[in-house]
Parts: sequence; C-alpha cells; structure tokens
Amino acid sequence: MTIFEKIIAGEIPSDIVHQDEHCLAFRDVNPQAPTHILIIPKKLIPRIGEAQPSDQNLLGHLLLTAAKIARDLGIDDTDQEGFRLIINHGKNGGESVPHLHIHLLAGRPLTWPPG
Ligand code: AMP
Repeated sequence: MTIFEKIIAGEIPSDIVHQDEHCLAFRDVNPQAPTHILIIPKKLIPRIGEAQPSDQNLLGHLLLTAAKIARDLGIDDTDQEGFRLIINHGKNGGESVPHLHIHLLAGRPLTWPPG
C-alpha cells in the first residue's frame, strides 16, 4: 500500500483541499512553491504511462479538478498569477510515489525549462 492509498483511507493525516467520488487533493508535505497541491485519483493507477483508455474520463476529471482548485484559490489569473501542473513518470521524471498524482504549483514565478 502506498502512502497515498493510506491518505485516501484516512490512515495518515493530510491537509485536504478537495475531495469527491473520484479524487482527492491535498497539500504536499514538502512544498516546492507557496502553493503545492497534489491531485490524485482514488483508483490506483501507478503512473500516467499505465493509464488505460478506460481511464479517459477519470484523467479529464483530474485536470478539470486541478483547474477548479486553482480558480477557487484565485491563482488562475493569467496576468497576475498563474500556476503549473506537473506529472512525474519514472526515474528520470522524478517520480517517488507510485500512485498517479498531478502537482499543482503556484505562488512564485516558475522557471522554464524545469530542473
Ligand atoms: P513525485 O516525486 O512526483 O512522485 O511526488 C511525490 C510527492 O509526494 C512529493 O512532492 C512529496 O513531497 C509528496 N508526499 C510524500 N508523502 C506525502 C504525504 N504524506 N503528504 C503529502 N505529500 C506527500
């Protein structure tokens, strides 16, 4: 069981910002920006490369939920604020938890290309 499954099960605490039937969003314990939220499906998909065509609606829901959270936090203003969504896959991608998650980063200018 991954640490994210334990968070979904309520076995370890997390700072939840959104929850619905299909996904959970909570603040990253080691934030890389003033706002750093993880959006995860309740269904276990280890990483994006293992998602199936049948996950299409769920994947769309995760992205729309990330955008809604940004709207709710008031960071979606394209001129004044803005945010970045990131999915890490595998070793070179920087993946450390094998449960699909979208990082939502905001609150400071983010450099490009990423490190
Ligand atoms: P990744 O490296 O893309 O797999 O991202 C995993 C993220 O999970 C990292 O940014 C960690 O800081 C974060 N993380 C690990 N454990 C926890 C936890 N218990 N609560 C919140 N975030 C966590």
